Amino acid sequence: MVTINSPRDLDSLDKSYADYPFNDMDANVILRSNDNVDFRVHGLLLSMSSRYFRDILRLDQPSHIQSFQHETRDGADVITVDDDNITLRKLLAYCYPHSMVNEPIFDQAEGLYEVRRAAEKYGMDGVEKKLRMVLREPRFMEKMPLKSFALAVHHHLPEEAALAAKETLGLPLVEREYVEELELITGGTMHRLQAYHLQCSKIAHSIASDLSWVDRDDYTWFTCVECVGLRSSSSYVTISGNRRMLVVSKWMADYLAKADVAVTERPIGRTVSCPELMRATLEKASQCRGCGPKACSELRQFSRKFAAAVDLAISKVKHPSFLKILQRY
Ligand SMILES: [Zn+2]
Repeated sequence: MVTINSPRDLDSLDKSYADYPFNDMDANVILRSNDNVDFRVHGLLLSMSSRYFRDILRLDQPSHIQSFQHETRDGADVITVDDDNITLRKLLAYCYPHSMVNEPIFDQAEGLYEVRRAAEKYGMDGVEKKLRMVLREPRFMEKMPLKSFALAVHHHLPEEAALAAKETLGLPLVEREYVEELELITGGTMHRLQAYHLQCSKIAHSIASDLSWVDRDDYTWFTCVECVGLRSSSSYVTISGNRRMLVVSKWMADYLAKADVAVTERPIGRTVSCPELMRATLEKASQCRGCGPKACSELRQFSRKFAAAVDLAISKVKHPSFLKILQRY
């Protein structure tokens, strides 16, 4: 992992210094990236952030660096690490005060996982914890769930793999697009992820068709006299929990049917309150004088409860073959 360079490696002419603040000639340690960029770092700051480097740099005990005839450059000890300069710069930025260097911005999930791995390797517990919070952000988990899942499995992070697996439920099973990170996981892992999706589909469908979680009978679509008066504007819905059967406005019956299909295909709570479905439903509701005024607020409230019921149900799914994904690591 770390090489203390021998005196034979004295030629530093082909090594460039990193940009500010890692070109400070008063800094006493050089970390040399595997692509030959030298980062001049203050040993004290490095030791405070990293258990690994604290042990290496400790002066009051015999250490690797003292037992080798090591390379120095411009008066600083050189330690070669096996990280590239982009990863190293982002990692070291966390060791310095914000007044000197900004926290790194991560546009790509891959780079984020690489820096986290380096933080773990060097015993930078606080940095690793912070990076794990970043990689759990919706811009990675929700926006690119398959990529996040594959990277989390590849990097042996079971908690993040479980979170990403849940987010893949927002993608239809048959329309998932290829991402190159899928090459990092096995066919077996992919199969288990699909089995988890199918299990959640069944559960979500039961929530959408059972409706026992509905706790109010006074929603406008249950009570609208205009809709009830017109046969073509009403329908029946069965609520199985206490075997109630209610007349429901046709526009709401359409919503329930579409939400059932959608959430069976994409079994995660937010599916039932997706903007397209809500917009189309409210357009129809607005055509009824009775339903119109209350439809928007009540449908939003209803869809929130619907989504929560779906999310609660899928959170209880402990598909045995899915758990194997996590147990493998
Ligand atoms: Zn109505």
